[in-house]
Amino acid sequence: MRRVYLDNNATTPVDPQVLDAMLPYFREKFGNAASRSHAFGWEAEEAVENARQQVAAVLGAEAKEIIWTSGASESNNIAIKGVAEKYAEKGRHIITQITEHKAVIDPCKYLEQHGCRVTFLPVDKYGRIDLQQLAAAIKDDTVLVSIMHGNNEIGTLQPVGEIGKLCKQRGVLFHTDGCQTFGKVPIDVNEMGIDLLSLSGHKIHGPKGVGALYVRRKRPRVICEAIIHGGGHERNMRSGTLNVPGIVGLGTAAELCRLHMDTEPARLAALRDRLWTALSSQLDNAILNGHATDRTPSNLNVSFAYVEGESLMMGINDIAVSSGSACTSASLEPSYVLKALGVGDELAHSSIRFSVGRFNTEADIDYTAERVVTAVRKLRAMSPLYEMAQEGVDLTKVEWAHP
Ligand SMILES: *Cc1c(COP(=O)(O)O)cnc(C)c1O
Repeated sequence: MRRVYLDNNATTPVDPQVLDAMLPYFREKFGNAASRSHAFGWEAEEAVENARQQVAAVLGAEAKEIIWTSGASESNNIAIKGVAEKYAEKGRHIITQITEHKAVIDPCKYLEQHGCRVTFLPVDKYGRIDLQQLAAAIKDDTVLVSIMHGNNEIGTLQPVGEIGKLCKQRGVLFHTDGCQTFGKVPIDVNEMGIDLLSLSGHKIHGPKGVGALYVRRKRPRVICEAIIHGGGHERNMRSGTLNVPGIVGLGTAAELCRLHMDTEPARLAALRDRLWTALSSQLDNAILNGHATDRTPSNLNVSFAYVEGESLMMGINDIAVSSGSACTSASLEPSYVLKALGVGDELAHSSIRFSVGRFNTEADIDYTAERVVTAVRKLRAMSPLYEMAQEGVDLTKVEWAHP
């Protein structure tokens, strides 16, 4: 049976070149990067510093500004809780927005329980914040603004360059969750005024369980209080023996993104657009969620009205995608991200996220389009609601009989 993987916003397969680069660091090059007294340690340290350079190069940053972590959830926690604690004397107010990943929302909620004030900005129907609202929300005691670059569910890009400029003018630190854009959308931390940026290995064809946090070292010099103490690794911001093979993998994955930055994002966007064109030309009532153009190259999020997302996923079970209710796992609540955009419960429940990656081909897309079109038509053929809507009945005005 053919299987197509279109859930690259959730995780990506490791690139074989990444795996090849990692393997020696599990075998003969197993040293501890903190061992200063022998060649095993030096070899590991050299590999870690090389990877630091590779990640920094994607961001226009310096190698010293990269802190290794276990993934972007940890990076977000260090950035948000670490800044809140370190700068507590300056103020205890943080600004974020409602469609952030849970790894930003939950640390913010945690801080709310521990004496901080948090402003959750709303978004427009495309998922973007309003810069004037952000400017108005910044107060004397604001220490941090945390607004993601690209959204994982709907792909919408936030205007990070303008947010960074505003934060600089107002003397507030700016953190962005860059998981969905690192290596896919050009980022220059200096041009964009970014002070902290989170990224993850497994979203860019690197390994799981390794990530990084960019922490600005000059103008201004930013320091995060550690969450994990012990040994003072990573400029005292994150202790623990470094995951050398994982770091080598993340570095190689970052380098591959950088080398193909001129062609690969455009190829991904073309695949995404090919899928949307095929779906929207063959199906009525297919609605694009998120912003039509200001979105990450990999993400397509579509609501198929009158069809349950979960039923559709079962109908195309050889194609890996996610639905608007699957993200918060077991719960059947519609996605909070789609709700924040003003998408109604019905349409949120009928949404599917398709996300393309390096190993997808046009043949994958054409196969997927054909399978989805067939499945949607089949489900709609069984739907009395769809039939009524086709006959011109305004479903919002129907008075349903209650048994
Ligand atoms: C995947 C993802 C995370 C979490 O990253 P992990 O490395 O899995 O902890 C955080 N934010 C966004 C936007 C993501 O897509």
